[in-house]
Amino acid sequence: MPAATGSSGTAEHDVIVVGAGFSGLYALHKVRELGLRACILERADAVGGTWLYNRYPGARCDIESVEYSYSFSDEIQQEWTWTEVLPGQAEIEAYLNFVTDRLDLRRDIHFHTDVAAMTFDEPTSTWQLDTAAGESFTARFVIAATGILSTPLVPDIAGMGSFAGDALFSSRYPREGYDFTGKRVAVIGTGSTGVQATPVVAEQAEHLYLFQRSAAYTMPASPRAYEPGEFEGLQARYPEIRAAQHSSFIGAARLNAFSALLQAMERPPIKTATREEQLAAIEERGVNGALLWGDVLFDMEANRMATVLYGEAIARIVEDPVTAASLVPDHPFACKRPIIDDGYYETFNRPNVTLVDLRKGAIRSVTPTGIDTEQGAYEVDTILYATGFDAITGALSRLRVIGRDGIDLHETWTAGGPASYLGIQVAGFPNLFTIQGPGSPSASSNFVAALEQHVEWIGDCLAHLRAQGYRSIEATESAQMEWADHAASLVQGSILLEPSCNSWYNGANVPGKKRVYLGYTGGIPEYRRRCTEIAADGYAGFKVC
Ligand code: NAP
Repeated sequence: MPAATGSSGTAEHDVIVVGAGFSGLYALHKVRELGLRACILERADAVGGTWLYNRYPGARCDIESVEYSYSFSDEIQQEWTWTEVLPGQAEIEAYLNFVTDRLDLRRDIHFHTDVAAMTFDEPTSTWQLDTAAGESFTARFVIAATGILSTPLVPDIAGMGSFAGDALFSSRYPREGYDFTGKRVAVIGTGSTGVQATPVVAEQAEHLYLFQRSAAYTMPASPRAYEPGEFEGLQARYPEIRAAQHSSFIGAARLNAFSALLQAMERPPIKTATREEQLAAIEERGVNGALLWGDVLFDMEANRMATVLYGEAIARIVEDPVTAASLVPDHPFACKRPIIDDGYYETFNRPNVTLVDLRKGAIRSVTPTGIDTEQGAYEVDTILYATGFDAITGALSRLRVIGRDGIDLHETWTAGGPASYLGIQVAGFPNLFTIQGPGSPSASSNFVAALEQHVEWIGDCLAHLRAQGYRSIEATESAQMEWADHAASLVQGSILLEPSCNSWYNGANVPGKKRVYLGYTGGIPEYRRRCTEIAADGYAGFKVC
């Protein structure tokens, strides 16, 4: 395809992609294929995004490698060998570096380039991106591949700065690693990250104190390496694997964090199960057996019954009854993103592990020597914060993004809640594409499958604009409102809106963030169908000119 020289007026680039994670790398490749002048601006000194920063002990994907990987290039599929079923952080980081080199992307990535502000210039229909170091870049289009779990949520605990030991953040974990040997360690947080890190840190640390504010539902799924020849067998079947993935509701048809939820729907209800049947379920399948019932996702009474049974299953693993009782959640199952673990509950039988149940007394402050709570003080050498993210909107909200008529994205999302059309564009911000913005399937799906669809749709859109000689595309307010209403209607009355669920799914984990369910739960196939239909309908709901 010929370069789009001239189409961007005075802008240096046709497209600037912000972020060199999974989404940004594919986006750069896609727009370069279209012959557009493009680059990535990346804050870090390396590719990987979330998978570069989140290198804490035990960091691992909860979706199978053959599905948590790009499907767009058969060459990449055939040249890359996965060694583990559920890939660890190091292997995913290596994969993304392989893809970067295989597609020769590095020459168009500006590392150490931290975008601080993006401003739309209406007369020229271009964006100016200003970096923290004072550089400026201009482009007709921006693709914000800034990640949905990329902005760390640093808790506001009094005295954090006074701690004299080592303070680590799972989402900004030291590149050189960290040796917990001989250390008294506090881990704060029991989401996917804390649950994954706990068993690994416990093996090294002299003593581990796990500070739990909300107990987690977590389902064991031990990672394993592929048997000899096993991966090669899968590699030969990629077309079949990808086809199944493509038609799967969550963009992953094999083992993954959501498998249990999908399996549960197929099973008989807990409400009519006899006591013997309930006990047989946990006898056979442990904690999973407690949760996998056909009615738990739709009936709160059934959900509560499953939680009680879950507690019984935990008590069969965790020897200390007080600890076992503390590990039982008090929010409904499945209203937060599912977690899978490797030996989490067994870890509490170790003599060097203490669960600090913050429901019995909250953290008061971090002190120079540890953590002071309403139930006592804990002296530690190291604190590992696994406290989550300002998800989906956080990365863009924390930049200064100024659209048409001087509208500020952060203010728009703060006042009205995080809205967007399809999760791809926000009204008032022409020519700015978001990958997996609010209202897209990202949260409740395989991110990689979801982002591939986004990148391909955006690529087709850019090709269309160029072919028609258009300079600008912007979501209309009315289409955005309709989409938000549609996405909200899908979760109406569901467990996802339970008031006791404070989660990154609904923004309730971030102080001051408007509580809105941030995903699209109609499934990727239906979402794709709608996006395709909108494009075929001349980009209905967008103003193009
Ligand atoms: P998260 O699910 O938001 O969990 C954060 C944890 O920190 C929660 O337990 C939270 O408690 C706690 N917390 C926050 N502030 C606190 C405070 N001031 N005091 C005490 N506790 C505090 O974050 P995450 O574990 O990083 O996981 C986020 C998402 O990343 C996951 O849902 C998943 O999508 C992805 N992820 C995936 C994997 C994987 O593939 N296996 C691994 C890691 C992460 P409350 O619940 O009470 O707020």
